[in-house]
Amino acid sequence: MLYKSLNLQSPDVHFKKALTDGLASDKGLYFPKNIERLPTSFFEQIEDLDDDYICFKAIEQFIGDEIPEEILKQIVKETINFEFPIIPISSSIYSLELFHGPTLAFKDVGARFMSRCLAYFNREQPSQKNTILVATSGDTGGAVANGFLGVSGVNVVILYPQNKVSDIQERQLTTLGQNIKAVEVIGTFDDCQAMVKKAFLDEELQNLNLTSANSINVARWLPQMFYYFLTYKKLKKENKPLIFSVPSGNFGNSCAGIVAKKLGLPIRHIIAATNSNDTIPNYLEKGNFDVKPTIPTLSNAMDVSNPSNFVRIKALYNDDLQHLKAEFSSCSYNDEETVKGMKELFEQFKYVSEPHGAIGYLGLKNYLSNDSTSIGVFLATAHPVKFLDTVEKNLNIELEIPSSIQSILTLKKEKYTVKTYEELKKFLNS
Ligand SMILES: *Cc1c(COP(=O)(O)O)cnc(C)c1O
Repeated sequence: MLYKSLNLQSPDVHFKKALTDGLASDKGLYFPKNIERLPTSFFEQIEDLDDDYICFKAIEQFIGDEIPEEILKQIVKETINFEFPIIPISSSIYSLELFHGPTLAFKDVGARFMSRCLAYFNREQPSQKNTILVATSGDTGGAVANGFLGVSGVNVVILYPQNKVSDIQERQLTTLGQNIKAVEVIGTFDDCQAMVKKAFLDEELQNLNLTSANSINVARWLPQMFYYFLTYKKLKKENKPLIFSVPSGNFGNSCAGIVAKKLGLPIRHIIAATNSNDTIPNYLEKGNFDVKPTIPTLSNAMDVSNPSNFVRIKALYNDDLQHLKAEFSSCSYNDEETVKGMKELFEQFKYVSEPHGAIGYLGLKNYLSNDSTSIGVFLATAHPVKFLDTVEKNLNIELEIPSSIQSILTLKKEKYTVKTYEELKKFLNS
């Protein structure tokens, strides 16, 4: 499979280079040159196929022959080796829980797939070392750190803003050791991101082979389509058109759902539900792409005002906005509405959610009020315990701490603190 840059100013590359570059040299996002539909028979028989095989078939064409079939099958198997339960909420609404992986967030799926692919490529060239450099406002760091823990030839450096991630999130970054280094930045998430961008352009850091690990990276973005396939397999017997509602920030997850649809997966409609950072809902309604300053919200993993993956969504529809709007929509909910959604799920359906999942629920409920023939699934993207204070306070309950979190609560946080880019550079070179 070849990938082109969506800025069209740099050469086409294979999967391995798209993975190790992250972003093309012209700063464009990599995008598959062509996507081939899977045969109809695959979807007809899907209930009889096993999960590993289904996901392997979904991703196979995007890797091409760069990873041998048996190894790719093993990578897929390890990527999805935890549960993806589908919880019925009402007669037409389900919650797809994506938070049963090691760091309790859906980003585990992409991070596990990417780390294993990179480990395979490094095995070919043992002298090659890579440094994964990421900025995190919360969930990305933990998932990436966990996914890459112990992968030989790869160092991971995670930048996070001091005092701006939750205690649990900080522990997930700072207690792993081995090849994972946590760097606390005296500043904001934007400062962290600015340092990462600067490092990628810094000639003096070329020897580190810096690689990104956010959803801009094709190896983190594409495996996110797996759970759309697995959900269809489980709900096919309902024999009704299927809607997905995806709590969205950078729009990588919803974009992966559209790729699944391109592959032939019968999805009637995808909703990208956002918090108050409503650039895309506004754009689809009014036609102007107006990026406002990012607003901090309760669903902080979605505090993104210029979603990087939206260009990929447009590309999947060949920039045909009418076609796009027939199959994809976006809506926005503020914090007050989010809390109301959480309370409604709890009081009416005895279901404990956190702010991100609740926004997915609200988007779905709104859509289904005009469509009584479909069933819908909202993606529960994080475990409620990751947003402990918000959940306990608003639902007036006490959450049980899962054992995976309990075990890190007593470990010592190991971190390096920097204030300036020069300090970061000194650390990276040490
Ligand atoms: C990252 C994240 C999102 C947003 O996903 P995108 O792919 O960036 O749209 C939603 N919920 C949670 C909990 C997240 O960590």
